[in-house]
Amino acid sequence: MEVPLSDLYCKILVQHKSKMILEVNGLDCYCCNGSDRRHVICKIKDTPHYQFLEGNRDIYQNYLEKGGRLVGYGLEHSVPNYDKLIKTFDLEKIKRFPCHEDGGKYILQDGVHRCSIILFNSLLETVPISLKKRR
Ligand SMILES: [Zn+2]
Repeated sequence: MEVPLSDLYCKILVQHKSKMILEVNGLDCYCCNGSDRRHVICKIKDTPHYQFLEGNRDIYQNYLEKGGRLVGYGLEHSVPNYDKLIKTFDLEKIKRFPCHEDGGKYILQDGVHRCSIILFNSLLETVPISLKKRR
């Protein structure tokens, strides 16, 4: 199925134990009750990934540094890796983005960087998704 990019949601880590990672406008997360983590469910435009493209690189860098391995820092994500993805981005290579549905919202499980690039550059209005189990 195809979903408008403006309707897709992302799950962003905003707090781990007592450590605040980031302020994000969004909705409370379904998975956080009783957990040591707090996420916010937000639109792509409100993610640090999208703000990076708008020139607020510090917000994204800060998010990586504070979130650490929980947000993929030191694993697959870094500022240089994101710059490289932007530079070499190829729309032909995108596949279905894995999402799960919660309360009528489609939440990305992977692909926040790529969806941010597509939205920021108005490359597509809808993207193909594959529905997965909630996680
Ligand atoms: Zn959660």
